[in-house]
Amino acid sequence: MTNNTYKYLLSDLKHLKGVGLKTSNILKRKKINNLFDLLWRLPKSYTDRTKSTKIKDLKVGEIQTITLVPYKYNFPRIRNLPNRILCKDDTGHMDCVFFNSYEGYIKKILPLNKEVTISGKIGYFKNKYQITNPKYISENASLIKDKHNKYSLTDGISEKIYNKILSQILSNMPKLEEWHEEDILKKFDYTSWNNSIIELHKPENIGNYKSNFYKRLAYDEILASFLVHSEIRKKIKKIKKINKSFNFNCQNSLISKLDFKLTHDQKKSLNEINEDLKSNQKMFRLLQGDVGSGKTIVALAAANNVIKSGFQVAMMAPTEILAKQHYTLAKKIFNNNVKIDILSSKTEYKEKKKNLERLENNEIDLIFGTHAIFQKKVKFNRLGLIIIDEQHKFGVNQRKMLSDKGGDNCDVLLMSATPIPRTLTMTIYGDMDLSIIKEKPKSRKEVKTYSKLESKIDDVLKFIHKEINEGNQIFWVCPLIEESKKIDHSSAVNKYKFLSNKFPNQVALLHGKTNADEKEIILNKFLKQEFKILVSTTVIEVGIDFPNANVIIIENANKFGLSQLHQLRGRVGRGRKQSTCILMFKSSLTENAKKRLNILKNSTNGFKISEEDMKLRGFGDILGFKQSGIKLFKLADPIQNSDLFDLAEKQIKLFEKTNKDLGKYKILIKLYDRADIINDIV
Ligand code: ADP
Ligand code: MG
Repeated sequence: MTNNTYKYLLSDLKHLKGVGLKTSNILKRKKINNLFDLLWRLPKSYTDRTKSTKIKDLKVGEIQTITLVPYKYNFPRIRNLPNRILCKDDTGHMDCVFFNSYEGYIKKILPLNKEVTISGKIGYFKNKYQITNPKYISENASLIKDKHNKYSLTDGISEKIYNKILSQILSNMPKLEEWHEEDILKKFDYTSWNNSIIELHKPENIGNYKSNFYKRLAYDEILASFLVHSEIRKKIKKIKKINKSFNFNCQNSLISKLDFKLTHDQKKSLNEINEDLKSNQKMFRLLQGDVGSGKTIVALAAANNVIKSGFQVAMMAPTEILAKQHYTLAKKIFNNNVKIDILSSKTEYKEKKKNLERLENNEIDLIFGTHAIFQKKVKFNRLGLIIIDEQHKFGVNQRKMLSDKGGDNCDVLLMSATPIPRTLTMTIYGDMDLSIIKEKPKSRKEVKTYSKLESKIDDVLKFIHKEINEGNQIFWVCPLIEESKKIDHSSAVNKYKFLSNKFPNQVALLHGKTNADEKEIILNKFLKQEFKILVSTTVIEVGIDFPNANVIIIENANKFGLSQLHQLRGRVGRGRKQSTCILMFKSSLTENAKKRLNILKNSTNGFKISEEDMKLRGFGDILGFKQSGIKLFKLADPIQNSDLFDLAEKQIKLFEKTNKDLGKYKILIKLYDRADIINDIV
């Protein structure tokens, strides 16, 4: 029998007492659509109204609770003058003041000569204490003398109403059938989901991250997300494909052409990919590696193997210039009889049409391009591998679509240059198998990282002079002031003018308003060394190799997260020259800023940097995952709760191994709104 009590939690807000169309619309605008959503808006703090104060002891400016007796109404007939109700207790007199309130209403809530309890912020006017527009008034003192949660409120809904709605839900919580097994429940001292939610909303429990109810709910969230990933993995694994068969001679001959040796991690990743290609299960793998760790060559070697086994390969890059760079590299290292081409928006119509025909007739083995290569009109003959060099961050849904697009025989390799802690990788890419390149090529010189006050810009200019004289190129990243694109723009323009003045004909500018074509022209010119300094606001694609650029200046560096700074820094240091990163600051650094900076200066390991960054800043806005719409968690924290992530991972592995019936967990998945991804399995 199915347990449907959870449906109450997903029901519309209008079912609540006191919530009309107006309130429910206000909440919906805040993406609060049902009772469950509302439950997850947790209180931020609370106001303590438990203690009574006598009138003589009131303190101006504080929120205090008083029991008193109204003894006289003063309703002036002059507009703009407030209604005043004179009140007293056994120690003195004070007023309740109402602006814009009807006499009838006041008479109802403050009847004369009847004791009431009032709570509010104390003011002082003409030698008398007063409370203006008090919201907490009741004859029943116990209703007022309580701790009242503070939520981040929306315009139009008062704290009181909000508390009232929530307590209505909390007191009607349906008892859900437990989804966890005994051994897991034991870890959280058997606290139930219902109870945990109720506890979480108690004022005194705000911020009690160590409690069992907090942990249980965090674990529920993690497990819900991992379960969905697991289901997707299972589905993909069920797809049988024609295995690729190739021998390693051609891989070896490709690698031997390089002027470097693969690192241990590159070899290991390539082996893992090869194993997948040779198996008859569809590959769905993420190749994760720091900027400059050498993912491209691993992908190309894999592509070569797929081509040798008689399939086509498509490699998608985030921008045309990057696609072109990959294309050029492939042309250089692949055997002449591999037919390589690129689909570009700039290709003439006729040629494009010809290319599409050749693709469809299997006359192209390896095609490069942007997302355009996945348009409907692009048809492959025997597509065997899709490689996606990921800068845009795909959500689970989009990845699933890409995987489906290639058909059953098509393996999928996604590359990500975003090093993040393992727990977060599990969360974001849990539907994929994982290969990680941790070490960087040994030949690489570390980028020297300095910080500099903006007032010392002359030193920086001197340094740039020297570098330019030695034939080097410079990135100059302008402050990113999120609040205003206009300011960003003008500050970049000003910097461009300033630098052009110092270095005539050596500077170019890229900003948010530069269109894609122009941007490409400028980047190409920079690549060809037609100018020396590139000023930019927009974050230039991390993947492009500018081997001759070895200096990056980042203004107002504290506007960036550490991981972002690390990625920016990764734009230089790709060639053989010594590279430098100069972080500029408007004013002296705070202790915290210094701490963060030292992490960056002392480490070149992106995984470590992102982990430290998250410890200091939380995981919320790391590297734009938030903007991408990828769902993270409400409670669970990949750093603080890493043990819970490990536990969930262990559980899922066990479930997969024992082919566990997941019936009981369906409610969990539905509630946590992960079900949209897997409608067909739940
Ligand atoms: P990313 O992982 O950021 O995509 P790339 O694949 O673009 O990195 O590699 C960055 C640079 O490092 C390229 O110029 C590439 O030729 C070089 N490279 C890759 N692997 C090695 C290696 N094992 N030793 C030395 N250089 C390497
Ligand atoms: Mg790359």
